[in-house]
Amino acid sequence: MSETILSLNHLHKQFGALQATNDVSLELQTGEIHALIGPNGAGKSTLIGQIAGNIRPDKGSVYLSGTEITGMSIAQRARLGLGRSFQVSSLAEPLSVMRNVMMGVQALQSHSFRFWKPVAQDQQLLEPAVEALERMQLSHRAWTPVCELSHGERRQVEVACALALKPRALLLDEPMAGLGPEGSAKLTELLEALKLEVPILLIEHDMDAVFRLADRISVLVSGSVIAHGDSQTIRQDPRVRDAYLGD
Ligand code: ADP
Ligand code: MG
Repeated sequence: MSETILSLNHLHKQFGALQATNDVSLELQTGEIHALIGPNGAGKSTLIGQIAGNIRPDKGSVYLSGTEITGMSIAQRARLGLGRSFQVSSLAEPLSVMRNVMMGVQALQSHSFRFWKPVAQDQQLLEPAVEALERMQLSHRAWTPVCELSHGERRQVEVACALALKPRALLLDEPMAGLGPEGSAKLTELLEALKLEVPILLIEHDMDAVFRLADRISVLVSGSVIAHGDSQTIRQDPRVRDAYLGD
């Protein structure tokens, strides 16, 4: 039986005269990838911001596993199990992959980075980081500085950073952006395996990846959900073809 992990209820957000989010409701359930697609400026990142806590909705509510999180801080939400990656990378380039992942865990546990601590000795940080890197098939790169990684490997590290916090739900904002076919194929394969453990709300422009991965798709245009359904339904929806997919 699938269970609702995340639910957005009638979210509204205005920036000046612009209605960036217009009465959006959607759900994420266990075992699924729910993709959010739509043209640039449709309001996809604004929606992710309202779930993760860096943008306050004007109206509406967000629930995580039945707990209302609408008014909570970013850190509170993360501690309750909301994992996310960013559209723009936030990795520390000179530091190792492992250290980057551990720093994420540490920041959440202690509210501050403690650079002076010999991090490799801290089992509480090491264990979740090792496990997250295994799941992202990056164990062999654990002690490599991030600046030596390929684009695709960096994306895998970003997902590992979120996974190390043992999230109940994962928000991914354009994880395939800038990746070549090989990097996208690898990440697609990893996300497909991951969704069985952590449901994923996926914003993505790479439609091959979306159609392969998504159990459900919501199409956002000008802040509103104009269509919702499985891959086949969305592919054939004339409004979606018109507004986004083209021919
Ligand atoms: P998407 O991620 O779908 O490309 P965004 O959510 O980034 O779209 O943006 C939706 C709309 O809201 C865009 O028109 C954007 O310019 C506007 N917008 C986003 N953030 C802000 C902000 N902080 N202040 C004013 N306008 C914003
Ligand atoms: Mg965006």
